Amino acid sequence: MTKHIFVTGGVVSSIGKGLTSASIGMLLEARGLRVRMQKLDPYINVDPGTMSPYQHGEVYVLDDGSETDLDLGHYERFTSGPLTRDSNYTTGQIYLSVIEKERRGEFLGKTVQVIPHITDEIKSVIRKVGERDVDVVITEIGGTVGDIESLPFLEAIRQFPREAGEENCLFIHLTLVPYLKAAAELKTKPTQHSVGQLRQIGIQPDVLICRCEQSISREEREKIALFCNVPVQAVIEEKDKDFSIYEVPLSLVNNGLDELIVKRLGLPSHPADLKHLHEILRRQREPKHEISIAVVGKYAEHKDAYKSIYEALDHAGIHHQASVRLGRIQSSEIEREGPECVLSGYDGILVPGGFGERGIEGKVQAIRFAREKGIPFFGICLGMQCAVIEFGRNVIGLDRAHSSEFDRETPHPVICLLDEQREITRMGGTMRLGKQPAELREGSHAKQAYGVSSIVERHRHRYEFNNVYRQQFEANSMVFSGTSPDGGLVEIIELPNHPWFVAVQFHPEFKSKPTSAHPLFTDFVQAAITRHSRRNSARPATPAPAHNDQNANV
Ligand code: GLN
Repeated sequence: MTKHIFVTGGVVSSIGKGLTSASIGMLLEARGLRVRMQKLDPYINVDPGTMSPYQHGEVYVLDDGSETDLDLGHYERFTSGPLTRDSNYTTGQIYLSVIEKERRGEFLGKTVQVIPHITDEIKSVIRKVGERDVDVVITEIGGTVGDIESLPFLEAIRQFPREAGEENCLFIHLTLVPYLKAAAELKTKPTQHSVGQLRQIGIQPDVLICRCEQSISREEREKIALFCNVPVQAVIEEKDKDFSIYEVPLSLVNNGLDELIVKRLGLPSHPADLKHLHEILRRQREPKHEISIAVVGKYAEHKDAYKSIYEALDHAGIHHQASVRLGRIQSSEIEREGPECVLSGYDGILVPGGFGERGIEGKVQAIRFAREKGIPFFGICLGMQCAVIEFGRNVIGLDRAHSSEFDRETPHPVICLLDEQREITRMGGTMRLGKQPAELREGSHAKQAYGVSSIVERHRHRYEFNNVYRQQFEANSMVFSGTSPDGGLVEIIELPNHPWFVAVQFHPEFKSKPTSAHPLFTDFVQAAITRHSRRNSARPATPAPAHNDQNANV
């Protein structure tokens, strides 16, 4: 019998539900259990694919091409259970499916209602994830208890134990216990109210995870337990972590959460094996190198817009035992100040993916700077397209070379629409999406980094290198080191006479994990370490806060 854990959030948004859910998944896997993660998002968009990164942060892409919430990135980085289209549903998707059924006449003339039709649909997508070879499904409900949008999801999970059995379900509520400086006190009232709201809906949480700045005393935990009707050992403290996100799962273990879950659900398991976590933290605490990487993007000020890229750089840092300081640089700043002034101090420059014309010229200038000064450069998706534009304009001398995404009249569309995209007008799930194979060229940086000839990476784009220009680029010593197996699509470009200049049409960041950093990221960070030590051989490394985005819209 598959067990189900439901994670809800209360008091405020951005409380760290995604990271906490992923941590719970990690701990249960470390106990030898087979876990599947799922996120249900209350917003009405069918998926986040068409949403602005300002609103929603990064769009995370799975192997099967689904465009999902960035929390799924936490899940994939922390756990190993497969994620698919069924791992992320939105209100929009649930309603769309019910409405399509209604149009097909499947409800036989009945009035279609939130209860039971919408809630039945929600329960069926939860059940579906747990159907095969799974011990525990962890379903995170997006949003905050009290939001109007969340109500159908909460009602569905309220009903769920009636069918799956009370003993097979566990409700975890993540809440905030704020510290009031003026009163020098932790305040439990918001938690009481939030749990009160859940109980009005008919959900009695089994476990409360309390986010807090200050430790919660035994008396305060007893008070929360009494008011919220849970045993005191089920009031789990989750204190803010200043140093690293990898401290979160460890602190949950130290507070007894994994033990409590397996006991309560009657899951046979061994104590969590967390050697890998301790090793990650050891490497972060004792850095042997300290480097800085500039990530030059359109949405640099939004900390979630390039979430997986920041994480992948962090993984590469863990791999090399290096502290990677990130410079989040707005590409428009380079347009204003010039690349020299903004980028001079960095050991590596990364230009990530994106859409829309704003900031493109800043990215092109940053890439020119990296190419001419021999600074390690890594381009990803739009970053690769900008590297092609830069090379076309400044090396080959192609007048106003551009992508036809940004300039339809350009005399040199070095980046143009994929053939299969020409007729598509509908937005949402219509790009070249998900995993695609590529072949690597012998003797290239890419081949050396991967150590294999055939790779599979995730894509999300409409535009592509324009093959009309291939010979001209090659004649000017750009190497096309990765192509689709039929050779028709350029997937990786590089410059052999540069310390490290590699750009890819796909998104390697989605496949990087803390325990197995992506080879292109480790190679790039190695090149940055080499550059740094050449420039600055004698300076000792100091431990800097590793990586702490505990709140990152999770
Ligand atoms: N806008 C570009 C395209 O559609 C790049 C997309 C991306 O960077 N994900 O091809």
